[in-house]
Amino acid sequence: MTPADLTFDQQHIWHPYTSMTRPLPVYPVVSAAGCELQLADGRLLVDGMSSWWAAIHGYHHPRLNQAMKNQIDRMSHVMFGGITHPPAVALCQKLVAMTPDPLECVFLADSGSVAVEVAMKMALQYWHAKGQPRQRFLTFRNGYHGDTFGAMSICDPDNSMHSLWQGYLPEHLFAPAPQCGFEDDWDEMDIVPFARLMAAHRQEIAAVILEPVVQGAGGMRFYHPEWLRRIRKMCDREGILLIADEIATGFGRTGKLFACEHAGIAPDIMCLGKALTGGTMTLSATIATRDVAETISNGEAGCFMHGPTFMGNPLACAVAAESLSLLEESHWQAQVLTIEEQLKSGLRPLRDCEQVADIRVLGAIGVVETRHPVDMGALQAFFVEQGVWIRPFGRLIYLMPPYVITPEQLAKLIAAVAAAVENPAFFRR
Ligand code: PMP
Repeated sequence: MTPADLTFDQQHIWHPYTSMTRPLPVYPVVSAAGCELQLADGRLLVDGMSSWWAAIHGYHHPRLNQAMKNQIDRMSHVMFGGITHPPAVALCQKLVAMTPDPLECVFLADSGSVAVEVAMKMALQYWHAKGQPRQRFLTFRNGYHGDTFGAMSICDPDNSMHSLWQGYLPEHLFAPAPQCGFEDDWDEMDIVPFARLMAAHRQEIAAVILEPVVQGAGGMRFYHPEWLRRIRKMCDREGILLIADEIATGFGRTGKLFACEHAGIAPDIMCLGKALTGGTMTLSATIATRDVAETISNGEAGCFMHGPTFMGNPLACAVAAESLSLLEESHWQAQVLTIEEQLKSGLRPLRDCEQVADIRVLGAIGVVETRHPVDMGALQAFFVEQGVWIRPFGRLIYLMPPYVITPEQLAKLIAAVAAAVENPAFFRR
């Protein structure tokens, strides 16, 4: 890439959550293999991000590449209306088999945010079909579910700047975020405000929607699984649907195949994305119970009212099916456990650093919460100098590497984080 390419990028291309007038630098990556990204100048960076929870098997995986090549030679895409194809059927058979038992009706879409829109729409249509329309969702503060308007309406009101969208976003119900951490003793008081909110609005709530156990982009917080068991019970008692957004947590990241398994519960609707294709292509799935699917189908509309152009894209389905086979055949539990142990032993000693407020590790996720917000531009440049790709935000520096990372590569990531938190220059007071 030439300097002119980078100038063009800066002047014409929006990157996630960036400004067109004050863009942060971007780093040109020209290839990726295993757990390394290669910059245009030839430098290799160890990847600590799995491209936002997605590339669990690492990059340039021969089996994933081959699955896409094979599918390209047959057909890259065909419409899904009135047509089906082997990759979609193969993928959905796997999804139905892997996910908790009552989930069996799959809707394929393009991205995580759309999977959340689909789940919300399913809940609304479910209640409409029952002849008792309900339009509100109950969720936690500090949640994150995507950037489309429906998804945004259930994201943390402060992080997602609900004030900016006032009058445009539907107003849902926000309970305080769980305080009882994953490894804490269960605290009965923690759930009281949530239970009160549900009781006060029990006739209006279509569904509870939450990220099970790990609140990701809204704060990287890990909460007690008892929360999920209690919420499942409350939802059952009131007949309210439970939607689990497993887009970030699904496919092993937390040490269980799905984070709901930490609590032994099944939701009525589950959203999957990110690692679904092993980080190669964009695809998501929303999976509902037969009861939800049949209720919707027997309602006034007579069908579920959604059908995107690229629904069930064969190329994405083929590589997703291969990625799930790869996961099933791998020793992902052992890999995630090994990563967890190394993250714990490497990050926990940083607790004593002046800049560090908290250290949290669960599965292949390691989080350093700092006392002050990071200077993103300066810290990013430092990490690149150290030969690692770590993308901090706010007061969070976190690692979620591909499951195939080696101990040496992970040690390099941890060492870079340790060096960063030693230097007050990387933090804004
Ligand atoms: N839900 C969760 C829990 C997520 O972490 C994300 C993405 N960070 C989304 C939904 C949205 O997915 P996408 O970015 O693919 O639209």
